[in-house]
Amino acid sequence: MTATTETATKTHPAIVTNPWESAQRQFDAAAELLNMDKSLRAVLREVRRELVVRFPVRMDNGSLKIYEGYRVQHNLTRGPAKGGIRFHPNVSLDEVKALSMWMTWKCALVNIPYGGAKGGVIVDPQELSMRELERLTRRFASEITLLVGPESDIPAPDVNTNAQVMAWIMDTVSMESGYSVPAVVTGKPQEIGGSEGRPAATGRGVTIVALQACKRLKMDPASSTVAIQGFGNVGSISAQLMEQAGFRIAAVSDVYGGIYNPAGIDIAKLLEYREETGKVTGFEGTEPVTNEELLELPVDILVPAALENQLTSENAPRIKAKLVVEGANGPTTPDADAILESRGITVVPDILANAGGVTVSYFEWVQDLQSFFWEESEINARLENIMVKAFNQMCEQADSHSCSLRLGAYLVAVSRVAQATQVRGIYP
Ligand code: GLU
Repeated sequence: MTATTETATKTHPAIVTNPWESAQRQFDAAAELLNMDKSLRAVLREVRRELVVRFPVRMDNGSLKIYEGYRVQHNLTRGPAKGGIRFHPNVSLDEVKALSMWMTWKCALVNIPYGGAKGGVIVDPQELSMRELERLTRRFASEITLLVGPESDIPAPDVNTNAQVMAWIMDTVSMESGYSVPAVVTGKPQEIGGSEGRPAATGRGVTIVALQACKRLKMDPASSTVAIQGFGNVGSISAQLMEQAGFRIAAVSDVYGGIYNPAGIDIAKLLEYREETGKVTGFEGTEPVTNEELLELPVDILVPAALENQLTSENAPRIKAKLVVEGANGPTTPDADAILESRGITVVPDILANAGGVTVSYFEWVQDLQSFFWEESEINARLENIMVKAFNQMCEQADSHSCSLRLGAYLVAVSRVAQATQVRGIYP
């Protein structure tokens, strides 16, 4: 896999929370506050469709290996289902269900016309050759064509998948259709209909909301230190863009461990070092920290940009940051959320903080459907408008209900999906 792949960071081993239970608890809190009708609540707290596939892949040595994968559509009320595909040994159906529900709220919050979906394959891509990875991707793509299509369900990159993986999916669907179907996936290479600005979009969105949150909390970016967990697509680009925006990046980590320098890490040099060595650990002028220690460092801002369940009831009492910006999906458990809130720590929730990726995915899909491509400056400006607007709508709700930003974001998102459901009515 290339350096631009979204890499996964080890999960916090102490407390294992089922992400699907977390997702449902977060939804329940919003439904309660919205005083939502019982039957509507019952519909929205479950996924609409779940596809489980088991398929053989020929390994380079001629043997066959059977893999299990999932594509789950939580909701399609506001438009086609949208969401990434992850390759990871710990993928489970419940994880993919949670991620699909989070996609529904994320798309509703930034008000793009999509429902939510997610896919995953139980595999450690590090153990596969490039050819094996291509065969696995193509076969999985073929298995899920039951659901995917430019008008029904549009995959994108997620943990351990990248533009090359999207190109293989696009090619597989196109070969099976007999013509090119660029709009079936987003996050593709630009040569085949990918968008300017898409690779950096999630990190750009993280940076935009971090700046907005600093304004709200009266924190000065130039005197704020940041720790970023995860150095894949989201973490590494957040590090670059937050450094450019004036923040001091004091710690980062990848799967192998973390590095810390309270005076600040030179991210451009670190990227060169990572290119050469494949890791961030051992970078000159930094001291080593574990992924768990990184979360508890004395910094102003914490950006968990790896996997779920990193901030738990076990470590939440020891978090020192004043602001958490969730680059990852589901990094904070509901129990940890309550502890952080009671300690006065502000959390910009995942469904907003990492929504830059799917927002530019939406721009990519629109460009593909129209075969008309935009300049990067236009994409970045539109992204900023959308993120700032959603940030303000989230804050308005949080302020008027005196609740957390997460609940504020859920109030905006869930009520949009609820209203769309009501106005469409029940078929037949
Ligand atoms: N995987 C990313 C996410 O979790 C991007 C999804 C997309 O672009 O569809 O938001």
